[in-house]
Amino acid sequence: MKKQKGIGKVFIVFMALIIGAVGGFYGLTWLTLPKTEDVQVGEEIFFSKGDENLDATIDVSNADISIHFLELGNKYTGDCTYIKAGDVDILIDCGSKSNSVSTISAYLENYVTDGILEYVIVTHAHQDHYAGFATSEKIDGIFDLFECETIIDFAGTANGKTETALYKNYQTKLNKAVENGATHFTALDCVEEKNGASSSFDLGANITLNILDSYYYKNPDKSNENNNSVCCMFTQKVSETESNNFLFTGDLEREGEEYLCSMNELPKVDLYKAGHHGSRTSSSKQFIDVIQPKTVCVCCCAGSSEYTSVPENQFPTQEFITNVGVWTDEVYVTTLCVDYKNNEFTSFNGNIVYLSNKESYNVVCSNNNTKLKDSQWFADSGRVWPTAT
Ligand SMILES: [Zn+2]
Repeated sequence: MKKQKGIGKVFIVFMALIIGAVGGFYGLTWLTLPKTEDVQVGEEIFFSKGDENLDATIDVSNADISIHFLELGNKYTGDCTYIKAGDVDILIDCGSKSNSVSTISAYLENYVTDGILEYVIVTHAHQDHYAGFATSEKIDGIFDLFECETIIDFAGTANGKTETALYKNYQTKLNKAVENGATHFTALDCVEEKNGASSSFDLGANITLNILDSYYYKNPDKSNENNNSVCCMFTQKVSETESNNFLFTGDLEREGEEYLCSMNELPKVDLYKAGHHGSRTSSSKQFIDVIQPKTVCVCCCAGSSEYTSVPENQFPTQEFITNVGVWTDEVYVTTLCVDYKNNEFTSFNGNIVYLSNKESYNVVCSNNNTKLKDSQWFADSGRVWPTAT
């Protein structure tokens, strides 16, 4: 009897240890995961990745400037562009969801070795661009994870935006970053050169960040948030008369592009981040014929039904392809939707890295370097490539 009691005690202790270990593991996992409901962003997938090469670093040491269009670790379309110009690190947007922060920060840590982002640009108050800055108190966002020196954001928002939980989170995090020493300018401050701001920031090595003028900085679009996008151009001076130009317009729509053309002297550009993820309502012919891009990068989950079930309107659209395709076939796309309903996605080109020196450039992608027009998705989608001009 005694012996049996002893075995029983050992068994109980053993089971308690097992339950404790398993419970502790799940408890810890639960505690460390960001809580979706905290930021009210609906369903989210945590820490999933489409491409095992996403964390692989690309040697950028031989480039004067490298521009990285990031995959976001989930099936959702969104923007996040990291730019390295010498020791100056810049981040434009941090979408697509708050849980993208883990994928993005892991990537940035490979390059931002001092933990300082000298410039952060937040184009507009849509989740797929600013969720990574608008995290709740309980979730570390980019402003928490990196020391941000100069933050440039949108001058205005659409009706009702400031009442949303995400926007309030953004303001809280932004204020905290400013308390911690960050300098904050709106795009309007920059173009009007007020509150100590400038429209032009010297990054060294003949590279300049220019905040372009846009009608909607002063006259916020109250119905279409996309038009409130901060637009900027990086220029790399090649000679007294020549420069390489890299253009970012956020999700600016056709009418905003018209103003952009009339309010700025836009040059031909070497690199263009496809406006509004390759939507049919941006990258208008009139605008594209002015900038005549040589390379175009599309940040989207190609062929996804996230925004529309109509295949023709899914990113990247035929209208976008028709307008940019006459100028270049060097069009790259970050992510590919496999089955939206079943949360299946994979890399298209993956993380796209554009490396530029004065006289030459190179594009290196984490998955493959297949151009959009040569891809299987393009063939299957029925999209048509236009003839070059
Ligand atoms: Zn967007």
